[in-house]
Amino acid sequence: METNLKALMYKFSILFLCWLTPLFTSAQGPTPESFLGYPKASRFTYHHRIIAYYQEMARQHPTQMQLVEYGRTPEDRPLVVAILTSEKNFGSLEAIRKNHLSRIGLLPSPSKDPDIPIAWLSYNVHGNEASSANTSMQVLYRLLDPTNADSKRILDQSIVLIDPCSNPDGYARYTNWYNGVHSSPPDLTSFSREHREPWPGGRFNHYLFDLNRDWAWQTQHETKARIALYNRWMPHIHADFHEMGSNRSYYFPPAARPFHEAIRPWQKEFNEWIGTYCRKAFDQQGWSYFTRNEYDLFFPSYGDTWPTFNGAIGLTFEQAGDAKAGLALARPSHRDTLTLADRMEHHLTSSFATLEAMVDGKETLTKSFEEYYRLAAQKPEGLIKTYLIKYTGDKAQQEYVVQLLQRQDIQYGRPKKTQTLKVTNINDHQEATILIDSTDMLVSAYQPKSNLIRVLFESQPALEDSLTYDLTSWGLGYQLGLSLFASQEKIEQQPWPEATPIPLELGRNPYAYLVDWKGLGSVKFLSEALQKGLLIHTTNTALTIEGRDYNEGALIITRNGNPKKNLAETLSAMAVKHGVKLHSTTTGFATKGIDLGHDDILAIKTPKIVVIAGEGISPTSYGEIWHYFETQIQYPLTTVPLSSLEKVPFTEIDVLILPNGDYTQDFSPSTYSKIQDWVIQGGKLIAMESATGIFLNNSELGHTKKEPESVIPPNPLQPYNKKTRTAISQTTPGSFFKVDFDHSHPMAFGWEGPYYALIRQAYQRNFLKDGWNVGYLNEDNYRAGFVGADLAPQLTNTLLYGVKEVGRGSIIFMMDDPLFRGMLYKGQILYGNAVFR
Ligand SMILES: [Zn+2]
Repeated sequence: METNLKALMYKFSILFLCWLTPLFTSAQGPTPESFLGYPKASRFTYHHRIIAYYQEMARQHPTQMQLVEYGRTPEDRPLVVAILTSEKNFGSLEAIRKNHLSRIGLLPSPSKDPDIPIAWLSYNVHGNEASSANTSMQVLYRLLDPTNADSKRILDQSIVLIDPCSNPDGYARYTNWYNGVHSSPPDLTSFSREHREPWPGGRFNHYLFDLNRDWAWQTQHETKARIALYNRWMPHIHADFHEMGSNRSYYFPPAARPFHEAIRPWQKEFNEWIGTYCRKAFDQQGWSYFTRNEYDLFFPSYGDTWPTFNGAIGLTFEQAGDAKAGLALARPSHRDTLTLADRMEHHLTSSFATLEAMVDGKETLTKSFEEYYRLAAQKPEGLIKTYLIKYTGDKAQQEYVVQLLQRQDIQYGRPKKTQTLKVTNINDHQEATILIDSTDMLVSAYQPKSNLIRVLFESQPALEDSLTYDLTSWGLGYQLGLSLFASQEKIEQQPWPEATPIPLELGRNPYAYLVDWKGLGSVKFLSEALQKGLLIHTTNTALTIEGRDYNEGALIITRNGNPKKNLAETLSAMAVKHGVKLHSTTTGFATKGIDLGHDDILAIKTPKIVVIAGEGISPTSYGEIWHYFETQIQYPLTTVPLSSLEKVPFTEIDVLILPNGDYTQDFSPSTYSKIQDWVIQGGKLIAMESATGIFLNNSELGHTKKEPESVIPPNPLQPYNKKTRTAISQTTPGSFFKVDFDHSHPMAFGWEGPYYALIRQAYQRNFLKDGWNVGYLNEDNYRAGFVGADLAPQLTNTLLYGVKEVGRGSIIFMMDDPLFRGMLYKGQILYGNAVFR
């Protein structure tokens, strides 16, 4: 009854809003309501209609608004930013932009004019936090309303960029679903279908990546496109609009601790200054809110922190809502109904509070921003003045680094001369003496983005409080497995050379072509070769033929096995494309190792690969696998829902991947026995993280869990107010460990130097007694990041990657995710080995 009453009240409130809103087109352009044809907050507007509204407003305001399409999503939706300012500023927009970049040293030309503050407002990076994109239309309308004195003042004194929806594919996934299922009027009952979003949810983008964890590494197309435009504008303020649990209130600055130490005092002060504007507005309305809690400024790949390390004031706003909230939801504990109208009103209010705080504090903001960049280039913080990346012979890895630095607008070069230097190894903090030459890369701290460089490269960020929201270590040396060193000297450098193809070493009429198995490039080469139908062999032992050494895992393409006329041209083009070195030999005779006709020279099958997805499976774990196959190594992958696993024709597949997930509902004994039979017949099963639990303690396919060596008894006198801190002693938010490998096993072929895993959980597996312990943690493998005191002992002497041969097939256990967020370079090689070898 009460629910029905609330539904009626909701209907009336919509009608009331309708009556209040002028439904006409005026000089300031149509209201969102009149353009869309329905009252404010009565529906979630489809993404294409939001874009249409922005296009209409740009058409009606040609002297104040520019709509820039900065990319298209994987599902071909436009990514747009609206640039707004006064007519006067608009006339010299490009000059203002260039002047701004000159003032902070990112353009060489001299700056002539004082700086104008620039704000960038991003809505809906998480697709199912759908009040944000809907609010963005209201923000646009109000900013362009000539009768609104506050808006006029803002646009006279600043430039405002609005990204109405940073994650269009996720937003469309959520809103298309919601609009198709909700009742009219909306059902306020929390357990109704419309409040239960189905798998995989709209939070993530097309490949099910969390775009609000992707700013620093930029693995996703949307992020790359956005940051290219961001670097053209380098805003003073970046505000990211989110939603959190539907039972909460509203979060705005001041931000929560821990703060990263690279954040400057003036940035904290301005963050607080914006907080005072939000506070005032919310207090006036009597709206609930909280500050300084949970949403910290530490991990650098968020939409608040990455801009912060680029000198901006990075802000997060969180409204109660999320997918659970729908258009309206009863909240008995609050004795209210959470409506889309309320959620939009709150985000609209904080958007304007931010812009008003910016223009009121514009002198401080622009001066401090300039000073930040001046100091960064002239007096970089910290002891490290030059970062050195030793070349290991992996061209693909070096190109990976080049791309990552270029996308962040970071300058790099190579040493001017060959020299011996005393340095520190950043990954293990040991002093070292190294010889550097022109193949190595240098990144100087004397440049405008030196604060960002320091954060991206640091291996042990100082954590002032271990209660934090995400990873506590992320150093590029670990992520990419680089041989990374630091010098306290400024080292002379010269420009990085233009990329030149690796020369091919091909003789006439060869017996075979060979490619070393080195780096992600060789995995991509193999993927393409198999799809082209080439017969590829490989060796598990190193070889020497005609005086040249080939490593374990090298690929062999014989002329007789591939009787195509244009084999040399095909292979050459592939080698150039993937950055690998192609060699040829006139003989199959090896002076060391085994001859090319030996039984142990093995043909690589072109595997049919199936991955499991759907309800129960971690969307991000599945998404990482999908992204890896589709965009990284470009190899076909067949996806099957977990609920249909039993019906899969197992005889047709070679590799079955079980991503991280909860398999308790859909993994029946008969599915288990089908998989077991298939493995015995020659199938390869890859079980990742919690999927490995399916096979625990099974005598044939299984492995076992470690018994804890000593159990720490819980403290019965634990104070109540310490409960959160007690809980984190069992966790790690993500920490780097160096992995020990059996490099004679094919799963550990193909990279030089150390491999670091990003550990987020202890699965506590014993070493396999009847299998291959390929990668494992010993006593002293911890490198960086927070690990709870009770968890640390569980991360020693434990298996991470194991292979168990069963019948003619095998099962691979991965207690760690090598594809985590697509950010680990060597993990992608390891995964390629697991699939193809
Ligand atoms: Zn969010």
